[in-house]
Amino acid sequence: LGIESVLLLTDPRMVDHDTGRAHPESSARLRAVLDSLGPARAEGLVRDVAPVPAEISDLLRAHQPELVDLVRDRCASGEPLDPDTPTSAGSWEAATLAAGAGLTAVAQLRDGDARAAFCAVRPPGHHATPTRAMGFCLLNNVAVTAAALADAGERVVILDIDAHHGNGTQDVFLNDPRVLFVSWHQWPLYPGTGRVEDTGGPGAEGTTINVPLPRGSTGDRYLEAYDRVVDPVIDAFDPTWVLLSVGFDAHRDDPLTDLGLSAGDYGALVARSAALRPGRTIAFLEGGYSLEAIRRCAALVVPSLAGELVRGEPPTGGGPGAEAVAWLVEHWHRAGLLAS
Ligand SMILES: [Zn+2]
Repeated sequence: LGIESVLLLTDPRMVDHDTGRAHPESSARLRAVLDSLGPARAEGLVRDVAPVPAEISDLLRAHQPELVDLVRDRCASGEPLDPDTPTSAGSWEAATLAAGAGLTAVAQLRDGDARAAFCAVRPPGHHATPTRAMGFCLLNNVAVTAAALADAGERVVILDIDAHHGNGTQDVFLNDPRVLFVSWHQWPLYPGTGRVEDTGGPGAEGTTINVPLPRGSTGDRYLEAYDRVVDPVIDAFDPTWVLLSVGFDAHRDDPLTDLGLSAGDYGALVARSAALRPGRTIAFLEGGYSLEAIRRCAALVVPSLAGELVRGEPPTGGGPGAEAVAWLVEHWHRAGLLAS
């Protein structure tokens, strides 16, 4: 396997995070992702790497000690963290493996012999804030990795294409100019955050980009926001690492949300993002609740990370969202955050 291969980080113990019957964030999701990787594996694109669990000190870069203690205690007792976020005896081990996968990927990619990494993990992470576990998320997997990279002197962009706003990731880095956070998400939708006007705290202005989109928005709207705001800001920011929060719930078949993407849109968004920093790109599985949509989207992630163009469902266009993107562009210009 050469430098065009993609590291796959996953662990069977992630199935042991038991959310109970009929919870949408089930272990069947992870199986659907792994099942879909057969063709990429047959092509020799996949190299398996075992994730090392995150240490407490790793978690404390993104979370307050009180939250880490709370998550560990609730996992031990099997009590939920909120009404949406159950735990079980296997949840702590699964969560620390999910939070450690990105750190393991960093160590491997630093050796320079792979194109990118895909952390096929659960529980997901992007709703977990410094002080709160919520929305099916126990620990913020992508934030733990981004914070470690930033502490090592790297400049990190996080691109979040889950249908929901990555409120936890935004909270971790809102006042941190070392990390550029970008989220495309349905609006309005849980958790109710992610306004265009939220562009970063004092000292970190212009390092948060929110792209709220109405129901039915198609892939061309995502790309238009990418062209007109995200790309120029990334160019000026000059990241050394690219992290992706990839939730497949923006697919048009997702049962929990109403966005309009196809698998082909996911392939295009992942390929474009991975091309920003080949060899320094890590994708993290977040949400996605249609097993069939997960299979179709995940099948494109590894080849897209490897820089290969693959055929899947055609990209979508012509849906709602043009006004939302126009407002995004106007706001960024008016705030003086976008060079004209
Ligand atoms: Zn989601």
